[in-house]
Amino acid sequence: MRLSRYFLPVLKENPSEAQIVSHRLMLRAGMIKQSSAGIYSWLPLGFKVLRKIEDIVHEEQQRAGHMPMLMPTIQSADLWHESGRYDAFGAEMLRIKDRHDREMLFTPTAEELITDIFRAHVGSYKDLPLTMYQIQWKFRDEIRPRFGVMRGREFYMKDGYNFDLTKEDALHAYNRHLVSYLRTYERMGLQAIPMRADSGAIGGDDTHEFLVLADTGESEVFYDSAVTDLTFGDRDIDYDDHAQCAAVMEEFTNLYARTDETHDAALFEQVPEDRRRIARGIEVGQIFYFGTKYSEALNAVVQGPDGKQSPVHMGSHGIGVSRLLGAIIEASHDDKGIIWPEGVTPFHCGIVNLKQGDEEADAACDALYASLTALGLEPLYDDRKERAGGKFATMDLIGLPWRITVGPRGLKNGVVELTSRRTGESIEMPPEDAVRKVADIYANL
Ligand code: ATP
Ligand code: MG
Repeated sequence: MRLSRYFLPVLKENPSEAQIVSHRLMLRAGMIKQSSAGIYSWLPLGFKVLRKIEDIVHEEQQRAGHMPMLMPTIQSADLWHESGRYDAFGAEMLRIKDRHDREMLFTPTAEELITDIFRAHVGSYKDLPLTMYQIQWKFRDEIRPRFGVMRGREFYMKDGYNFDLTKEDALHAYNRHLVSYLRTYERMGLQAIPMRADSGAIGGDDTHEFLVLADTGESEVFYDSAVTDLTFGDRDIDYDDHAQCAAVMEEFTNLYARTDETHDAALFEQVPEDRRRIARGIEVGQIFYFGTKYSEALNAVVQGPDGKQSPVHMGSHGIGVSRLLGAIIEASHDDKGIIWPEGVTPFHCGIVNLKQGDEEADAACDALYASLTALGLEPLYDDRKERAGGKFATMDLIGLPWRITVGPRGLKNGVVELTSRRTGESIEMPPEDAVRKVADIYANL
């Protein structure tokens, strides 16, 4: 993409309405525009990152054997009356009447609808286990929408639902989700720590939230600092293997890590004092096992191998896809702007032409652009007639992890400059080496 043709409405000034750095940087980098409280348009740059995050979520869900599908945002209230949640959900639910005066609502989550689909089509244990998920817009009429996309009213969420014959199978589904979430967040360059949490309005016994540590986080968390040493890495897990998933679950949840809702001061005392941490975190996902709560309420039963009918065991699992943009920026920025992890960056590499209009510099940039593109990479070429300082400031603000700077002086010696956004380190090298280096970095992700 050529920057001269791209829609990137960067702001020079700090927007006064933004209280935290991720919100400020998303507005300044022209990623989003608020349309009303807690509701945003996603401008091209923001939309690109949203898609990258969504792609990772899709890939990791399907790697774990979960099936993508899509349910409507507008639902009839009937099912919610049946489950008892129409009233229980309270003021956060956006209620709508259609022209026939029928009660409708904008989905805040979809346990009822998926259970209705399940009960219409599945009657036998032979069709289990089954896990389906969607990535779909949700609406919750938050009392205090704030921090940009972190606490919006309209937000993009992955919600997945597992159906199993037995509690044991459903707990495997729970563990499997935990494993796949660990991989998902790590691919985005994030450390998200599973913490024992409270099940709130969804209901149920077992639940973990995934938290990204950040001072601006809304949750207070208590943990053993040893949890931050755990990494999932590139382990090859067989998602159907109960024992393997249970082992990962055990490894990542046996150290003390809890949100304030489930915090137990006496247990926390048992953590060695120098490892006790009290901090803040951003919730980027949550997994639940809730047994037969919805299947009983909605009469979703299956016939077991013994011929007996019993309510199916269920869980639901969410990832805050749009919130993740804010969380990643909170975790990865400096005073010049965003620093995208390679896994989610909107463009793989920036190209800065120090002397637009100079025949050699223009030709070198065009050649770089063509080579990177031929390797399947997406460069953003700043081809505007602007001063170098302004070009660098824009690149730093929008946070592409790598930048190739091209100028007549370097070209005389046959070199361009490759700069890491994260370290600020620049190395001069021939253009083809810079292309190879960038390609290698992404090939090894
Ligand atoms: P919170 O406690 O932050 O209100 P929640 O526990 O009610 O969130 P879940 O029902 O667990 O939310 O939804 C799954 C995920 O969706 C959350 O982990 C979070 O990342 C994201 N999410 C929830 N509410 C919002 C919101 N208002 N704006 C953006 N993302 C949200
Ligand atoms: Mg939650």
